[in-house]
Amino acid sequence: MITSDPVTPAPRITVDTHIHTVASGHAFSTVTENAREAASRGLAMIANTDHGPDLPGGTNKIYFKGQRVIPRFIAGVAVLRGIEANIRHGRGTDCTESMEAALDLIMAGFHAPVYNNEGEAANTRRLISVISSGRVDVITHPANTQYPISLRDVIQAARDCRTALEINCSRYTRTDSRPLAVQLAALAAEEGAPLIMGSDAHICYDIGCFDLGLGILEEAGVDPAILVNATPLRLLEFLQSRGRKNTADLLAHFQSTGEHRTAD
Ligand SMILES: [Zn+2]
Ligand SMILES: [Zn+2]
Repeated sequence: MITSDPVTPAPRITVDTHIHTVASGHAFSTVTENAREAASRGLAMIANTDHGPDLPGGTNKIYFKGQRVIPRFIAGVAVLRGIEANIRHGRGTDCTESMEAALDLIMAGFHAPVYNNEGEAANTRRLISVISSGRVDVITHPANTQYPISLRDVIQAARDCRTALEINCSRYTRTDSRPLAVQLAALAAEEGAPLIMGSDAHICYDIGCFDLGLGILEEAGVDPAILVNATPLRLLEFLQSRGRKNTADLLAHFQSTGEHRTAD
């Protein structure tokens, strides 16, 4: 008789924190289409994180402040108002203080042509300066061969400042960065730096597609349960701990209802 090991259920991540809309200028779905697709995939929460205004062909400052018109729930899925800001040469990002005040989730990453590779030492200094500012909750795709960094230095800064480092699940860009992402995941888990996972969907059909990231964690020997976006409550508590007060309503909601989606 053939016997098999007990089946371990696949890890379930119910929040996708990295999603673009048509507002980014090179993405193809609206926030409504994104939420409906997320609902059909059983997600409880998504974040609307279009590129910051420095990236050509996309958003402007008013767009980010204007996200307050987006309902808290669409198709039963909670929608966070966010940004994927661009790290600038010199100082800071293209997310101003007034934009920041209007948002729930601030992410930032290196994107050409706003920031071009300056070499490992300079890239590392820029990233650590953004992390240390305390104004960015998540560094998107830090494992990127186009922008070499000292992984250990960045991870230690992220650990000290409680800034999450993203395992990015895009199948279309940074395709040679997987070995670096495995190293990042393993070292971040060892050091106790927060890790987060995002689809980086530029069309609704990629929302919640975490296969690539889960494979990276598996290779690194990291349990997906440690991700700060494993559940809505985990993410909202992480944001509260970083001083993001705009999500207090959602935190109260998910504390009272548990992790489940809300019907319309
Ligand atoms: Zn990006
Ligand atoms: Zn993105």
